[in-house]
Amino acid sequence: MRFLVFVLALVASVCFGQQDLHDTQCPLCAMDVIPSLNQSFKGNQAVYACEMAGHLETLANPASNVLRGAVALSGSTLEPPYTRAHMGCPVCGSTDLKYSMRWGSQGNQKLYTCSKEHADMILADQKKYYVDNGVQLESNGFCKHASVMFDGFQSSVHSTCVKLFFQPWVLNSSVKYAFGFIGIVCMGILLEWLGEYREEVEKKFLDKYGITQSMDQEATLHDNSQPSQAPLLVSTAASSLIQPTTKIIQQKTIKLPLWCTIVLSVLYMIALTMGYLIMLVAMLYETGLFIAAILGLGIGFYLFKETEQDEMSGNIDPCCST
Ligand SMILES: [Zn+2]
Ligand SMILES: [Zn+2]
Repeated sequence: MRFLVFVLALVASVCFGQQDLHDTQCPLCAMDVIPSLNQSFKGNQAVYACEMAGHLETLANPASNVLRGAVALSGSTLEPPYTRAHMGCPVCGSTDLKYSMRWGSQGNQKLYTCSKEHADMILADQKKYYVDNGVQLESNGFCKHASVMFDGFQSSVHSTCVKLFFQPWVLNSSVKYAFGFIGIVCMGILLEWLGEYREEVEKKFLDKYGITQSMDQEATLHDNSQPSQAPLLVSTAASSLIQPTTKIIQQKTIKLPLWCTIVLSVLYMIALTMGYLIMLVAMLYETGLFIAAILGLGIGFYLFKETEQDEMSGNIDPCCST
């Protein structure tokens, strides 16, 4: 019985004795890794990737040549984060590890082997030593994982899924992606419409509820109060010194009642929220959804902008314009 417990403990330590994932960085960008994003190798070894779209695919793809040549280990213990890992050579399973191959130029990940020959065998055919035969590479679905970070403009089709606005909103099927696309187009149209609608409401409010306040202001204009206009001063100096010109300026201001300004403010806040959401879509760097955002704003402009107006202007910056 005691022997059985010992064997179980040994098996468990071999199976679960992993590297310290809190201290493991992505070989491509040195960001912290996500434990679920990994490509495991035989011998209880693995390479881990960060959340950035496409980084795991790059690591698992032998053609990207991220794995560097073998270097002999200097000491008998492995470097962090592998100090407590129970690993074996992916080729022969030997736990007597003598060589390491560095993953990329960033981070601290390595692949260990028993000998230079076995390291070269892995470099020659990396995929052969994958535990799951590199199933992660073949995407039979629409896309996999989920990310809000794309490394430059990319499409999520057959690549990393888009996480749109909220944690559970992962567009991981063609139907969900289509809904996302249509939703963003609609948001763009709605934002353009809202801009026009807000202007109309403001005009109506001013016509209906605006209270005109006129204030008569007596302004005394001394020509010599403007020292910057030197030539003018010279020509009129003589007359103005004798009689300062006095003008009555009538100022008209239209004030809206409080509830009208509140309604206009709420409309403004709704437009601002939508503008920011569209900006977040653009910042995803997902090609399809970026096109959806631009398409929506374009259709909205076409449908709702008053083309008879002398000046046609759209909101170039959807988030920050008033
Ligand atoms: Zn990365
Ligand atoms: Zn070996």
